[in-house]
Amino acid sequence: MTKNKITGWNLDNSYAELPTLFFLNILPTSVNEPKLVIFNDQLAESIGLDREELQNGDGAAIFSGNKIPKGAAPLAQAYAGHQFGYFNRLGDGRAILFGEQITPKGRRVDVQLKGPGRTPYSRGGDGRASLGPMLREYIISEAMHALGIPTTRSLAVVTTGESVIREKEFPGAILTRIASSHLRVGTFQYGANWGTVDELRSLADYTIRRHYPELEMQENPYLSLLQKVIEQQASLIAKWQLVGFIHGVMNTDNMTISGQTIDYGPCAFMDVYNPDTVFSSIDREGRYRYSNQPSIGGWNLARFAESLLPLLGDDEQKALELAQTEISAYGSIYYANWLNGMRRKLGLFNEETADEDLVSNLLKIMEKYRADYTNVFVALTFAEQKDIAMFKSPEFVQWHKLWQERIKRQKESDEERTLLMKSSNPAVIPRNHRVEEALEAAVERGDYNVMERLLNALSKPYAHTKEQIEYAQPSKETLPYRTYCGT
Ligand code: AMP
Ligand code: MG
Repeated sequence: MTKNKITGWNLDNSYAELPTLFFLNILPTSVNEPKLVIFNDQLAESIGLDREELQNGDGAAIFSGNKIPKGAAPLAQAYAGHQFGYFNRLGDGRAILFGEQITPKGRRVDVQLKGPGRTPYSRGGDGRASLGPMLREYIISEAMHALGIPTTRSLAVVTTGESVIREKEFPGAILTRIASSHLRVGTFQYGANWGTVDELRSLADYTIRRHYPELEMQENPYLSLLQKVIEQQASLIAKWQLVGFIHGVMNTDNMTISGQTIDYGPCAFMDVYNPDTVFSSIDREGRYRYSNQPSIGGWNLARFAESLLPLLGDDEQKALELAQTEISAYGSIYYANWLNGMRRKLGLFNEETADEDLVSNLLKIMEKYRADYTNVFVALTFAEQKDIAMFKSPEFVQWHKLWQERIKRQKESDEERTLLMKSSNPAVIPRNHRVEEALEAAVERGDYNVMERLLNALSKPYAHTKEQIEYAQPSKETLPYRTYCGT
């Protein structure tokens, strides 16, 4: 471990100790004219970096890959993935890991550049990224973090002074991503398909040591690892559903072992409540639509379980049964997480069996009247049932009466209930038109103020301040919103 006193880098490279199957050493390709356009100084400080030094000194050079911080041993990771159901050999085609920063509190986090040039895993790609999508990842990942949803985070975006060619020419950019690790379901699929059992076991042991050290003492640590990842993903996907987040590309290479949300390509938040919502332009069959996310999570976890089979026991049949038992538990773990989250959104402290109906009836009414998902819950929180057409409907009036009766049966006061609802129902989400407006100002006009103001509104979603009200308005646009992958 090398401690660089000036900028605070304290990098370790534990990933590079894995069998060489799992990565290749590679340096970023230098860029012409790096410029730091956005920098997350709070995050920098929390991981022990000197924000002033980076902002005014070395930041542009380091976050563009032109200068390698002390202690870094840059590498690209190998992984595979089921992309829209089809299995492919992949790897970091446009990402390079500097190493792991050990934070002042002793946490280990990956520091990764996204868009630093070609790697041996680039296949036909240019290894680069364009500015709009990198700023988009910055905004949405930071919003997710503020919403209390486990996620990778964004430390910095630099422009490269070079352009990238997509549908047309765009300014090139590099995002620095901070993650508790970049281990994916697809990393295990890679190990299971192209490695020996010993190599796969090294990966699993490393993962347990890094993320779930408490499992080392378990009778069957690999089975415990499977259980843990199932729990983490069930909890994560429930959180997505509760805020209306649609990931958009839940391929197995985009599902982490740590339980953090990763890969902000075509994701977006739902405005009008519609379970069939799809934003991604390439998801023509709606595989990753809102209502499908929980079951796709289960499908991906089954692929994870398959990869672990050789480690679960010597008897193949027995290993399969163990894995199947765990996988079949996922649905109910997910559902319990979701239902409890919905109870909190409705200010319910205890459990009644009729709660399921109460929740599903509300969702049905929202769907019928095309109500804004986020704003309905905010209106219920503050007992201000106006502005939304649904509130005048006989179905809602009837529902509201049942909800009020349900609330009266619990012992907690109205103040306590309001507090619970305020902290469970965000005032703001990154509305698509607001995100687009911020990106346009930055990319087209070099004006980052719109984005800074948006980031500020999104930074405390449960504060419910006056300043947030303008960011809570849904778009007046009637055409469906479209998002794009791999840009
Ligand atoms: P994603 O859709 O972002 O999850 O990426 C899927 C795979 O394509 C990963 O292996 C990426 O590294 C790779 N990839 C995406 N964009 C590029 C690019 N511009 N150049 C090289 N590889 C890329
Ligand atoms: Mg990906």
